[in-house]
Amino acid sequence: MSNIRNCSRCGKMFNYVVGDVICDNCKKEIEEKFQQVKKYIEENPGSGLRQIAEQCEVSTKQLKKWILEERLVFSEASPIQITCENCGTRIATGRLCAKCKATVTNALNNTVKERQQALAAEIAKKQAAQQPNAGMKFLKT
Ligand SMILES: [Zn+2]
Ligand SMILES: [Zn+2]
Repeated sequence: MSNIRNCSRCGKMFNYVVGDVICDNCKKEIEEKFQQVKKYIEENPGSGLRQIAEQCEVSTKQLKKWILEERLVFSEASPIQITCENCGTRIATGRLCAKCKATVTNALNNTVKERQQALAAEIAKKQAAQQPNAGMKFLKT
């Protein structure tokens, strides 16, 4: 089944598969732009978001997207301040600091563990109910 959509960047019709509604051509161009931006930041670590956007001819929206995707990393020297969404600590990239990320991951793991334990208990109960005489037979012999 084909899923023809209009590219959100250039408007061209293309066969949409998954992710952003962007055609292959634009994806390639964005990737090239990303490499250009990355190089620019490496060479000009003191430049701000607007400066990077102007020099590389890229939108600040796109820059922020790359930051959230943890693709762009900023050094201590950078005026670009990215802070943890949870505790406000300064971070190099992404949404959360390492500490908050670990907390979130732990919380997720615990939920999964609890579910697995509850499921295992339920299965054990069902199995016990299905063989009511299993224990009795064993006692008789
Ligand atoms: Zn396009
Ligand atoms: Zn944090």
